[in-house]
Amino acid sequence: TPSIAAIDPEIADAIAKERHRQYEHVELIASENFTSKAVMEAQGSCLTNKYAEGYPGKRWYGGCEYVDTVETLAIERAKQLFGAEHVNVQPHSGSQANMAVYFSVLTPGDRILTMDLAHGGHLTHGHKANFSGKLYEVHHYGVDPETETINYDALAKLAGEVKPRMITAGASAYPRTIDFPRMREIADSVGALLFVDMAHIAGLVAGGAHPSPIPHAHFVTTTTHKSLRGPRAGLILCKEEFAKKVDSQAFPGVQGGPLMHVIAAKAVCLKEALDPSFRTYAAQIVSNAKALAARLNKLGYRIVSGGTDNHVMLVDLRSRGINGAEASLTLDKAAITVNKNAIPFDTEPIFKTGGIRIGTPAMTTRGLKEEEMMEIADYIHAALEARNDEAELAKIRKQVTALTARFPLP
Ligand code: PLP
Repeated sequence: TPSIAAIDPEIADAIAKERHRQYEHVELIASENFTSKAVMEAQGSCLTNKYAEGYPGKRWYGGCEYVDTVETLAIERAKQLFGAEHVNVQPHSGSQANMAVYFSVLTPGDRILTMDLAHGGHLTHGHKANFSGKLYEVHHYGVDPETETINYDALAKLAGEVKPRMITAGASAYPRTIDFPRMREIADSVGALLFVDMAHIAGLVAGGAHPSPIPHAHFVTTTTHKSLRGPRAGLILCKEEFAKKVDSQAFPGVQGGPLMHVIAAKAVCLKEALDPSFRTYAAQIVSNAKALAARLNKLGYRIVSGGTDNHVMLVDLRSRGINGAEASLTLDKAAITVNKNAIPFDTEPIFKTGGIRIGTPAMTTRGLKEEEMMEIADYIHAALEARNDEAELAKIRKQVTALTARFPLP
């Protein structure tokens, strides 16, 4: 059959250009990564043709014997990797994984206590435009204004006042280790369930570079496409007692037929994460983030909370007279991709933001180490300083693309 280039040249062209962009740019978006060829092969396979509503051995469709093998392998590997009692591999995304968890134990109007979105929480942790903010009575905890880290004593006090049915932990922009045993202690003290959304740090947890929430939380969800380096999708891990409720909320509660090609890609990603080399990768992500943060700090940038313990850092740009939106546009011209991000207690409007978020999982996959991280910090600084000088930005872009050319994509 004809190739995509023959059938649909416009889409083929856009894909080719995106491939080149990914190859050329220094990719520092903390939630992105480069999957292996094996993951892509699974995701681009004939499994996309198959309907398989239900679960392995209990499907609503015939012809499911091979996709049953795929889903069972994905489940077993996730259980082994994370030490979970029960796993559901069907969520199409992190948001749908979170929705299935909420629906399994909460009823509309229930109180939940979650990380403030302005301090790093995710939309599904109670944003008013999201289902979570519309269905539940949301209360937020945040970071301490002095330390910019979670103040667990303040959280315990707030939990005592709010008496939530569920406490949600995990974030999209929190650079420090989260104390899961303490979180569970606080949840227990008020009779709340603990739900950890480890989307950002799942690869670090898998590789032993961040403590695991699994022994402590009633529910854990993750995306599979961030530090875990798999396809764009979600997973739910929970205690056995919630297995039936979670499964029936994933399907038929919030989803229809599972994406079997994506589940196959998750299985491949989980196999890769079980390989000892993934531990080296996870440790390198953290080392790289520490090296990048330290260098930026040396160049005069304030790093929120003073540094990072994981894969991500927030850079406060306000003292440099530039906002996050300008910084991200400028860096794009130098072939460096970041995102603007509000910092805790930000004084800039949300569409400008006082900072940028920088993460290292993607460039660590390409093989960059501490030395190159320091080089990247220097390019970031040079580009921000040259933000009104197009010729200088073009020069920096050449240096940046010479760096990425040395590190092939998977
Ligand atoms: N949870 C956290 C903490 C996230 O950072 C994200 C994505 O950014 C999600 C959930 C949602 O994932 P998805 O975009 O796959 O719905």
